[in-house]
Amino acid sequence: CGIVGYVGSQSALDVVMAGLKRLEYRGYDSAGVAVLADGGLATAKRAGKLVNLDKELAERPLPAAVTGIGHTRWATHGGPTDANAHPHLDNAGRVAVVHNGIIENFAPLRAELAERGHELTSETDTEVVAHLLAEEFSACADLAEAMRLVCRRLEGAFTLVAVHADAPDVVVGARRNSPLVVGVGEGEAFLASDVAAFIAHTRDAVELGQDQVVELRPGGVTVTGFDGAPADVRSYHVDWDASA
Ligand code: GLU
Repeated sequence: CGIVGYVGSQSALDVVMAGLKRLEYRGYDSAGVAVLADGGLATAKRAGKLVNLDKELAERPLPAAVTGIGHTRWATHGGPTDANAHPHLDNAGRVAVVHNGIIENFAPLRAELAERGHELTSETDTEVVAHLLAEEFSACADLAEAMRLVCRRLEGAFTLVAVHADAPDVVVGARRNSPLVVGVGEGEAFLASDVAAFIAHTRDAVELGQDQVVELRPGGVTVTGFDGAPADVRSYHVDWDASA
């Protein structure tokens, strides 16, 4: 339902949690975060309101990190449980994915992954994306390219945001018939389903078109189509009142 991604020099967890709070009004049934730290991935997720996630983070703090993603879920496939909350990971725990929308062809993809030895642990349509991304990344070592390859295989409407432990300082997003906006700051960049999530940090935004992938790094953003062709992007300044 709500998505936030961050790369820069601030505490990724603080930026992401504050962003998720700004998106709370949309309604949701679970929430989760993932950060890249110490060469690995650390995650926390909980069914229920963001206070449940806050409590979990207080009991089991995540390591300090400058790259992270977060999600508030409105369940469509699988009940609102801790296990079905996003982020979803691959079996090695190296890639984390959050998703808004529905992957229509998740069933055949699940069957295909199971045949190749993947163990899927949730009931969501989302989890297949983490496993497919892990496979593609292990072949090309480029998270944006891996995302493009995976998106070409997906049917449905989706916003996807991912991080990989072997791609430090990178957050990748993709969209098809589901909203995703990019915020560009000084040495930092943001991704969200709604500008409200990052307006406290920057008002310089980039709107993604249909079937596009964006790669965020602290130094800037790169947008391509699912086919890899460089995309024309529309930059704009958000001038509405953030307190509204
Ligand atoms: N279809 C996904 C799920 O049920 C994402 C739902 C959402 O948009 O929050 O987990």
